[in-house]
Amino acid sequence: MLGPPGAGKGTQATLIAENLKIPQISSGDLFRDHQDRDTELGRVARSYMKDGVLVPDKVTITMVMDWIEQNTGVGGFLLDGFPRTIGQAKALDQALANSGGIDLAIYVNVPETELIHRLSGRLVCSKCKTQYHTIFAPPSEPCICDKCMTELNQRDDDKPEAIKKRFQVYQEETAPLIGYYQVLGRLREVNGVGSIEKIGERLLRALD
Ligand code: ADP
Ligand code: ADP
Ligand code: ZN
Repeated sequence: MLGPPGAGKGTQATLIAENLKIPQISSGDLFRDHQDRDTELGRVARSYMKDGVLVPDKVTITMVMDWIEQNTGVGGFLLDGFPRTIGQAKALDQALANSGGIDLAIYVNVPETELIHRLSGRLVCSKCKTQYHTIFAPPSEPCICDKCMTELNQRDDDKPEAIKKRFQVYQEETAPLIGYYQVLGRLREVNGVGSIEKIGERLLRALD
């Protein structure tokens, strides 16, 4: 799943993974999990994430490759938020060379004005990581997760200054991946504006 911050990657990745019954991983969730457990990796990641810049490739690649190794042989997997640089994409191609690389990169396209609305209202469950939105996807009870009844939080990097920086980083470091996968003939673009259900249908069609 490829796309700018707030495109709905996390929301849709969860739905697709449930639908196709494959494991899914979000590199951002992995980093936040390390931070919650206060591991050394978590402390390194926090120093970058709080400012909206990317965690260095070396650290990120090692972490995601570990996850992939533990999750191969299960009929596929879905990556959300990784790769995010050309260096990460090349490392992934190399690691999956024997199985022909990834099947598809799905680019979820959403204009920036819509992204700002989405990010500024985003709420995340501190326990199960389900994404909500104050207006577009509100929980049944204010600030409480529907699934596990835990408190919902706003992410530090969803504050205005960090949002601005993340858009800039996306343009410079991640957007080039669209061309990278296009050249390989692996890119599918999906319009990410509309209801969560409608976009889910578009994504499943693109994957079919
Ligand atoms: P978004 O909602 O912006 O897509 P994520 O939860 O995917 O956010 O990522 C949050 C932050 O975690 C990023 O701004 C970055 O600091 C770090 N991060 C996540 N994935 C990667 C990655 N593949 N490479 C480098 N840094 C990453
Ligand atoms: P990403 O992982 O790409 O950063 P998220 O899945 O976290 O994006 O979505 C960002 C915010 O937008 C969340 O608050 C989510 O509830 C909300 N959202 C997701 N999809 C839609 C949609 N189709 N319309 C409106 N809001 C959405
Ligand atoms: Zn929850």
